[in-house]
Amino acid sequence: NEEMMIRTEKLSLIGQLAAAVAHEIRNPLTSIKGFIQLLSATKKVEESHLNIILSEIDRIQIISGEMLILGKKQAFTYKRENLREILKQVLVLMEAQSNLVNVKINYRDVSKDPPHVYGESNQLKSVFINIIQNAVEAIEMEGYVSVSLNTSDNDVIIDVEDNGHGISEERLLSLGEPFFSTKETGTGLGLVVCKKIIERHNGEISFQSELGKGTKVKIRLPKMS
Ligand code: ADP
Ligand code: MG
Repeated sequence: NEEMMIRTEKLSLIGQLAAAVAHEIRNPLTSIKGFIQLLSATKKVEESHLNIILSEIDRIQIISGEMLILGKKQAFTYKRENLREILKQVLVLMEAQSNLVNVKINYRDVSKDPPHVYGESNQLKSVFINIIQNAVEAIEMEGYVSVSLNTSDNDVIIDVEDNGHGISEERLLSLGEPFFSTKETGTGLGLVVCKKIIERHNGEISFQSELGKGTKVKIRLPKMS
């Protein structure tokens, strides 16, 4: 099968990303160009066309922003961070969003030790925002997202569980591949960025899911004393 062949060709990640980015950016550019040509031919400004142009530009901006995060080397300052504080800030943000769509976010902190990690707070925040956002988006009508914080001997562990639509076994394999998205307006870059950031922090991210039941994302980061 063709997809398998492409996969086994093992293009470098850079090559894969470059090809995928070019592809993802070409569509909004084509659409922007089309509407601007129309505008210039008719000299008539339609508000709905302008809105499309603006949202297509937004999309290019989002994609390039995420590419920048992926490409950046170590321009960040890593220091001892308390994940409890980071999660608190993320939850305030996410609760405001989830309230609008009938999703309840539960938070449980069962850490025995201070959940300290060696990291960069903005990158870590964007991981939790991405993961919780995906969980909220997986819920169709109403549901819950449970976030828990825990510590073990060597790690700080964050679980994000939702009772949304879940991911099929087949799709679970494609998770975190650039531009894999099942959403109409998704970029499919969120998890690529998350994986990269967790990797930079010497951590691990894993996914468990059952179609129709929900998904559990587990993030493990080395604990600092
Ligand atoms: P995006 O959110 O832009 O689609 P992501 O990289 O964040 O991109 O996620 C990729 C895909 O993984 C999503 O489109 C969705 O199909 C799937 N996914 C991620 N998290 C969940 C979740 N909690 N429940 C169901 N599907 C998920
Ligand atoms: Mg996402």
